[in-house]
Amino acid sequence: MSDLSEHLRFYQELGVTGVSRDARWRTRGSSQPPAPGSQPGGAAQRITIARSSADALAAIRADIGDCTRCKLHKQGRTQVVFGVGNPDADLMFVGEAPGGDEDIQGIPFVGRAGQLLTKIIEAIGLKRDDVYIANVIKCRPPGNRNPDPDEVETCEPFLFQQIDVIKPKVIVALGTFAAKTLLRTQDPISRLRGRVYDYRGAKLIPTFHPAFLLRSPERKRDVWEDMKKVRVLLQGDDD
Ligand code: SF4
Repeated sequence: MSDLSEHLRFYQELGVTGVSRDARWRTRGSSQPPAPGSQPGGAAQRITIARSSADALAAIRADIGDCTRCKLHKQGRTQVVFGVGNPDADLMFVGEAPGGDEDIQGIPFVGRAGQLLTKIIEAIGLKRDDVYIANVIKCRPPGNRNPDPDEVETCEPFLFQQIDVIKPKVIVALGTFAAKTLLRTQDPISRLRGRVYDYRGAKLIPTFHPAFLLRSPERKRDVWEDMKKVRVLLQGDDD
């Protein structure tokens, strides 16, 4: 299939009905990325004993339990939203925090944004079950506010543990909050995306959050460019 026809198919699947003449979609940020190979959150305990990834993830989930480690536990959450997908996934998506639908169902990315994420995954020839999906923060912040720094500091070690168990080849950081948090930078997603970063043994690609795409569908073309990079990285050598 030609690149152009793939491009058009992606737009069709994601519901893009027109092609913007806005040249900004080609813009690439000029900021320097954080130090390559830096390993934020090194304090997180690594689950490295020999057992299946599924067992290791179950152990992390059991450790979280009915977590009360940060104040989000008493601010209206229904449940902890741990993560979902293939424990041995080559591709992992990381978002910010559960929203209303996720809080009720206990599964990340199940609302309208989640349905769009599923289409994005399928656009590169994968199924949702092939990948792993998690958030930096496991409990819904009230009113969908941004998580506070103390909440991130308390909760993100669980994400680091998940990444270290799954050992994905590629991590896609969905949206400004996830990208800034994982890369330890204040640069907005518009400057971070378009580049590939080394992150905890994986390649990290920041892209726009599906919820943002629902509001700004003209940016889907940017996500397609990012997902093409993801596909190339996934097809790379295993060594
Ligand atoms: S957000 Fe994380 S640290 Fe805070 S209560 Fe939920 S699981 Fe625990």
